[in-house]
Amino acid sequence: MATTAGLRDTAAPLEKTPLETYVPPAKPSLIGLSRAELAARLGDIGVPERQQKMRVQQLWHWLYFRGAQSFDEMTSVSKDTRSGLAERFTVDRPEVVAEQISNDGTRKWLLRLPSGDGLQKAHEVECVYIPETDRGTLCVSSQVGCTLNCSFCHTGTQRLVRNLTAGEIVGQIMVARDRLNDWADRETPHGNRLITNIVMMGMGEPLYNFDAVRDALLIVSDNEGIGISRRRITLSTSGVVPNIRRAGEEIGVALAISLHAVRDELRNELVPLNRKYPIAELLQACRDYPGASNARRITFEYVMLKGVNDSLDDAKLLVKLLKGIPAKINLIPFNPWPGSAYECSDWEQIEKFSEYVFNAGYSSPVRTPRGRDILAACGQLKSETEKLSARERQALRAMAMTD
Ligand code: SF4
Repeated sequence: MATTAGLRDTAAPLEKTPLETYVPPAKPSLIGLSRAELAARLGDIGVPERQQKMRVQQLWHWLYFRGAQSFDEMTSVSKDTRSGLAERFTVDRPEVVAEQISNDGTRKWLLRLPSGDGLQKAHEVECVYIPETDRGTLCVSSQVGCTLNCSFCHTGTQRLVRNLTAGEIVGQIMVARDRLNDWADRETPHGNRLITNIVMMGMGEPLYNFDAVRDALLIVSDNEGIGISRRRITLSTSGVVPNIRRAGEEIGVALAISLHAVRDELRNELVPLNRKYPIAELLQACRDYPGASNARRITFEYVMLKGVNDSLDDAKLLVKLLKGIPAKINLIPFNPWPGSAYECSDWEQIEKFSEYVFNAGYSSPVRTPRGRDILAACGQLKSETEKLSARERQALRAMAMTD
């Protein structure tokens, strides 16, 4: 059962500001830079090479361990270095333009980012915090919009605008820690952090933005900084097969697959990327995923759609397909959104499906829908960009298939 108990005092709720008032940042932020990149920036402001390693350590600690929001706070860094940095850089995170708090404690932040093309325009992404009794999970976005157009997903109705940078991905976690007052030095003597887990399940397909997602997750999991263990970070993909192995080798986080169907014909419709990487290929990539074991199972996400993919035959075929893969199956009751073509399966049917899978030896929890009242639940993330016409969608789908 979800709870908000343990939430610390946070800043006042934010009201959304109009898009037209957005002013892109004048200076670049250091957030999202690797140690080597930070050293190079220090070199740019004249810090001698022999001092750079030590200064990088200090910066890293202030940025990612303590969550400093200005150079002034970094008291262990020399004044000259601080003022040199402040002249050229900031430690800004994405701008928070709205915060919504669900009656179940789920929080959703709408973040504004520069368009990245030098124009005075803004993009928006969303980031969601889901508190539970034993953990707090932050759902992070990897792209503005998504090209994959999964037919049950609200986010998929938004045009892909661009990939997020590593800084914008790390920045989402920093914003959430700021808003929840969840940095290390504010920890209570016995307290754990509120954000214990990260899921790359927000807007976008993370494996279509591989380098930035990898760089960001390496920062997030760094022990001397944000320090969220790789075991507590899950990357969810709809099945970009060539990058699945790379994710295991280069990032080493837990893997989740948005499966949703057990027959290619249906999966082609629900997750159109399946036409490019069909189920058999996808499951082979899962069998080969580096580091998968009974202790580190691959999660298969399965949204329950009434009369579409929820029969007992589907459950049987699912069990057959997953043979030999250390797997758990998350059953997700469908969250309807305005204009969606599907209905959520009946509760009784979800239970039958779950029971069959469970009796076959797989953990098969039914995920409690969270944040329904603020449209923060799975597949509902969508910022303000207009809905696409059917023709535009088709064109984008074709583009994604030829990537
Ligand atoms: S489910 Fe994921 S990959 Fe599919 S459209 Fe939605 S955001 Fe994109």
